[in-house]
Amino acid sequence: MAAKHLILLGPPGAGKGTQAKRLERDRGFVQLSTGDMLRGAVASGSPLGRQAKAVMDAGKLMPDDVMIAIIAERISQPDCRKGFILDGFPRTVAQAEALDRLLSERGLALDHVIEVRVDDDMLVDRINARNAQAGAGGGRSDDTIETLRRRLQVYHEQTAPILPYYEKTGRLVTVDGMASIDEVGRDIDLVLEGVAEAG
Ligand code: AMP
Repeated sequence: MAAKHLILLGPPGAGKGTQAKRLERDRGFVQLSTGDMLRGAVASGSPLGRQAKAVMDAGKLMPDDVMIAIIAERISQPDCRKGFILDGFPRTVAQAEALDRLLSERGLALDHVIEVRVDDDMLVDRINARNAQAGAGGGRSDDTIETLRRRLQVYHEQTAPILPYYEKTGRLVTVDGMASIDEVGRDIDLVLEGVAEAG
């Protein structure tokens, strides 16, 4: 399959990472998770990591210019020629506009913007289940209910406005993220195969 450039959009816990990993495995596209990149920076103890830890634990967003620079550098790496799935970027309209610029400078186009839509209540249930599985003291430090609520608020205020941005240009397709992982995967496959149209 030809290299494709996709965005998976959706609130925290919607399953974007799971679906991106599946597409990476099945289709060879590279998963570009800005959250994973920031967690890598936190683990390395770099100045970026120290900034990211404070921001992530508060459930807030990193500054646009920092994130845009990270993605600009990452999509220039040779492995991205296989195609990529953006998971966690863009998260603001400014990031979405910058991404359009970055892609057009490189002669690339966005093939699909896929919204994985999930209700807030289900996300709260999922985080509770994830934490129960991880056990006491396990899991991510930004996976508490309080942080999730803050992150959901940030999603609705700052990230959801991206949806009309992509809708206007006919690039947005929405899949039902409340379905099982396999069903969501099948719906995403239909979008990639051009069966499910934007609109
Ligand atoms: P994620 O794993 O995608 O849920 O990201 C975890 C956290 O990293 C988010 O709650 C933000 O604090 C930060 N983050 C990840 N991606 C971005 C982005 N594109 N812009 C700003 N902050 C981000």
